[in-house]
Amino acid sequence: MKTEDFTAIKELLSSPKRIAIIPHRNPDGDAIGSTLALMHYLNSYNHDAVVVAPNDYPEFLKWAPGESTILKFDTQVDISKSKIAEADIIFTLDFNVLNRTGEEMGRFLAESQALKIMIDHHLAPDDYATYMYSDASMSSTCEMVFNFIENLGDSDKINSDIASCIYLGIMTDTGSFRFSSTTSRTHRVIGELIDKGADNTQIHNLVYDTNSYNRLQLLGRALQNLKIIPEYNAAYIALSQSELDEFNFKKGDTEGVVNYALSVNNIKLAAIFIENSSEGIVKISLRSKGSLSVNELSRTHFNGGGHSNAAGGRTTLSLNETVEKFIAILPEYKAHLTS
Ligand code: 5GP
Ligand code: MN
Repeated sequence: MKTEDFTAIKELLSSPKRIAIIPHRNPDGDAIGSTLALMHYLNSYNHDAVVVAPNDYPEFLKWAPGESTILKFDTQVDISKSKIAEADIIFTLDFNVLNRTGEEMGRFLAESQALKIMIDHHLAPDDYATYMYSDASMSSTCEMVFNFIENLGDSDKINSDIASCIYLGIMTDTGSFRFSSTTSRTHRVIGELIDKGADNTQIHNLVYDTNSYNRLQLLGRALQNLKIIPEYNAAYIALSQSELDEFNFKKGDTEGVVNYALSVNNIKLAAIFIENSSEGIVKISLRSKGSLSVNELSRTHFNGGGHSNAAGGRTTLSLNETVEKFIAILPEYKAHLTS
């Protein structure tokens, strides 16, 4: 984003505003961390800022400072709609296509006349925002919120609540600082966040060491279901609705499981297919190493998108048909997978 844009936003925020801050559907650590961090920052200036999430999120995020104030559009429709309708400014964080909030909420956001500001690190942004801070090279939207506050000249406004929220999203979106999007700057930001009061050990414990017995048993089943396709250096896991039911599946229980498929020696493409009978879909997560863009693969074949090495999508096919489709498209990507 240009310096003039930061100047214009600073001017815009110089008087109290009603602000709605929106993460994507099925918010993850980066979506929850970035929206809450921005909310705390804006409210420190007497704005009336509220986070309106499309739907619920996993238990392991429910400690984040300010989390209890988050409105959920799908179960708190009236208040969510009025917060969006009354807003002077709408920030959209960690996504860049309005229907990533779901069809109804996406339409509602599109109809709003509020000034829109996007902060996001996904590829191929839509053109709905007046101000776009869009940078696909960034580790996380949380790191961008840190930059955003810094560019507004307000680093000293980052207190321990804001620091904890930002730490949460950088940690989860970088796989604990190991993905290639992690830079020396990311580590310097993390250092500053710790100085400002983020308790790194505690945050890791709260996110990664609160597994239920059922979740670990489901992981065991997922690992037993792992299939390798050696000629394409690809691996996948499929989980049926009945398997999820057997282990009393809760939102978030399968988060990160696809990375086990990617951790197999020589594997360059990993997928997990998760049946969701109530929505009539199969949810897909894709991960790659090297030049294969799963963003492109997901956009082309699975109604999705994301980043070059991490993307998601969905089908309305059956679980078996989805797996068959995945296997059938592999020849298209052979050059990337076997080089
Ligand atoms: P995950 O596999 O962890 O759900 O998502 C991986 C990445 O892909 C995230 O950055 C997420 O925002 C993006 N993503 C996941 N599902 C979808 C989808 O259905 N559509 C698009 N455009 N992006 C997605
Ligand atoms: Mn993110």
